[in-house]
Amino acid sequence: MARSTDSPDGANAVMSAGERAEKLVEVRLNEQGSRRTFLRMLGVGAGAAAAASTGCGASAPTTEEFFRQHYKKLTDEDKKRIFARIEGETLAKTGVRTHISDPPPIDGVEFAYALNLSVCNGSRRCVEACARENNLPDDPEIRYIRVMEMEAGSLEFEDATPNYDREKVPEKGKFYLPVQCHQCDNPPCVKACPVGATWKEPDGIVVVDYSWCIGCRFCVVACPYFARRFNFSAPQVAPEKINPNQGYLSNRPRFKGVVEKCTFCLHRTRKGRMPACLEACPTGARKFGNLNDPNSEIRKIIETKRVFVLNEELATLPRFYYFFS
Ligand code: SF4
Ligand code: SF4
Repeated sequence: MARSTDSPDGANAVMSAGERAEKLVEVRLNEQGSRRTFLRMLGVGAGAAAAASTGCGASAPTTEEFFRQHYKKLTDEDKKRIFARIEGETLAKTGVRTHISDPPPIDGVEFAYALNLSVCNGSRRCVEACARENNLPDDPEIRYIRVMEMEAGSLEFEDATPNYDREKVPEKGKFYLPVQCHQCDNPPCVKACPVGATWKEPDGIVVVDYSWCIGCRFCVVACPYFARRFNFSAPQVAPEKINPNQGYLSNRPRFKGVVEKCTFCLHRTRKGRMPACLEACPTGARKFGNLNDPNSEIRKIIETKRVFVLNEELATLPRFYYFFS
């Protein structure tokens, strides 16, 4: 379908979808290409900028952040200024004093996760711990982890129930399979993003620059694990539920119209702590660590257990393994 749009140099033109995609790639490859160029090409710039300037929702980006450089081009000084501004906004809005940090990947570390399906009891404590840790809204509810109730002896997702409602778990004849971002080593979500707003870090964690994301949701469609969440409205978190320990690429305030996902709690794990979901698990089903450390528990599990990944045939190479003990 062709529609009238503005070309990057400002001239009106009629571009087919193919031509637009080609142009997007061309601009993406061009170091000078800016997010504004994409927004203009996609015809969303004016609306989004208006939302920013009217302060739509609790977490709409300020004009300064909306037009700032890509995360990878920010200097330490830029970051300091941006973090202080966001902390100030949160304090003014909620009365909560937060601290934003930006821990870098640790040299030589590649994270991986493993989950023992024999002991997961479906209590979904991980789901709620994740929500609190990552400042996820309750209304409308956004959760990074889904726990699927599965028929015993089957890995058929057609028969799985994602939103089971039980007074007591585990239910006889069922087992439970939690799904979250698998931090794929060959992530289709990253390839799908036309503006480079999401990428894989050296430690394997796939991150999103919330201020660069244009909300096109190509990544949401590309992810075979249904691991990305789109903010249809400004995420609201009650002040008493705000986690003040925030990472710029993880659980800091997000906006309406951008995509987010699990980051293996990088604001914790890059500082030597475990992900919140692991700490909350009452059965010890969750294991996490450095794949490159031959003595780590995660490495031993992968070497000694019959581990499997979901949708192996898609060659996404997940860093999230399952096993039965
Ligand atoms: Fe991307 Fe989905 Fe893989 Fe996560 S699970 S890295 S969102 S493709
Ligand atoms: Fe990239 Fe996804 Fe944001 Fe689109 S919605 S810009 S694909 S991160």
